[in-house]
Amino acid sequence: MSATPMKQLTTVLLAFGANLGDREATIREAQMMIANAAGVSEVKASPLRETIAFRIDGPDPDAPKYLNGVATLTTTLGAHELLDLVQSVEQHHGRTREVVWGDRTLDIDIIVFGGKAIADERLRVPHPRAHERDFVLSPWNDLDPHAVLMGHGRVKDLLEAVGDTTTAYDGASA
Ligand code: ATP
Ligand code: CA
Ligand code: CA
Repeated sequence: MSATPMKQLTTVLLAFGANLGDREATIREAQMMIANAAGVSEVKASPLRETIAFRIDGPDPDAPKYLNGVATLTTTLGAHELLDLVQSVEQHHGRTREVVWGDRTLDIDIIVFGGKAIADERLRVPHPRAHERDFVLSPWNDLDPHAVLMGHGRVKDLLEAVGDTTTAYDGASA
């Protein structure tokens, strides 16, 4: 018998968004930092998609556009430890929180954490707004066309219901 206690492996979906700075480099770097973190493995990132910024009073075509993507991973971290990790990666990329849904260099949300439902003052999973966000559903559907969002059903169906306003992103030089 091994002396090491068995650590539970959880499958996670993270969502990434950026609308300031070199958006693509920031998201790819953030994904690399997370992939290299202790307790994280098997990071698989979606293609990136471009989206009009969504403000507290609706879509804002005049604001800098977002790049959005998702990634799946497996982790031995607990949900709050993973939140600590993604928040430290946001901080590393100069994330500030001034205005709700304001412009940002990097946002990382935990969309699902295994089959767990958590609702406390720091963390709600599944993310309460993921099912109505094309910028989460569309790259998720690209990554896994059979994906299911716990409590809401097939990602493909949810995306069809909300309508996909995102566009494929082939890189800044394309
Ligand atoms: P939204 O949650 O609507 O996407 P946001 O991402 O702009 O909004 P933030 O300012 O990044 O919101 O985060 C505010 C707080 O939300 C964080 O400090 C964090 O504690 C909390 N939070 C709750 N649930 C989650 C989650 N599933 N993933 C990430 N942060 C979460
Ligand atoms: Ca968010
Ligand atoms: Ca967030």
